Amino acid sequence: MGSLGQAGSMLRPAACLFDLDGLLLDTEPSHAEAWSQAAAHFGLQLSAAQLLQLRGRRRLDCARMVQAWIEAGSFRPVASDELLALRQPIAERLLAEAPAMPGAEALIGRCQQLGIPMALATSSSREAVSLKAAPHPWLAAIQTRVHGDDPQLQQGKPAPDVFLLAAERLGVEASHCWAFEDSPAGAQAARAAGCQVHVLRPEGIAPALYPPGVLWLSSLAGMPLD
Ligand SMILES: [Mg+2]
Repeated sequence: MGSLGQAGSMLRPAACLFDLDGLLLDTEPSHAEAWSQAAAHFGLQLSAAQLLQLRGRRRLDCARMVQAWIEAGSFRPVASDELLALRQPIAERLLAEAPAMPGAEALIGRCQQLGIPMALATSSSREAVSLKAAPHPWLAAIQTRVHGDDPQLQQGKPAPDVFLLAAERLGVEASHCWAFEDSPAGAQAARAAGCQVHVLRPEGIAPALYPPGVLWLSSLAGMPLD
């Protein structure tokens, strides 16, 4: 068996816990575009900084943030239902075509080959994951999954619950797991759960926005596996 060493730990992980959006699949441009179009309907042009803040969070948590920004700008109440209803068809159309991140498929294949247990730890709902995963059959190798709308999930990222639940379902300690994340909210969640966190930092998000102690990846393709 090879070891997933060299990236910071000499110990092989008990399991790898993967974020989905912006980590395994390149869905963040689609999410951003869908929020932009929905907010524009209410007269708000979302800034690049606001769009970055939405990353890694659950749809309902994002809706609350966008709702607050719209209300702060327009001084009138906005129904988050209406916001979500506007965004949904735009998001579905864009997300169904989102490509894999470079190296993602090979990384999952390698973990599988090495017999390292894997779980998906995502803010995305079960329905959204199935839509996005449809063109990517390699994702089926990750059978243990915690979704944003999981009935056992208390709080979304940046709370640690998603990662704690994923580790629990694999029967391992979260502190013995490696987590793979792209967003500050997700990295915060994984650190709070006690995972060793590998971050694929998107361009435009400052390293200072991530919690201390994360390990930086230049690419999933560059992840040393054995
Ligand atoms: Mg993400």
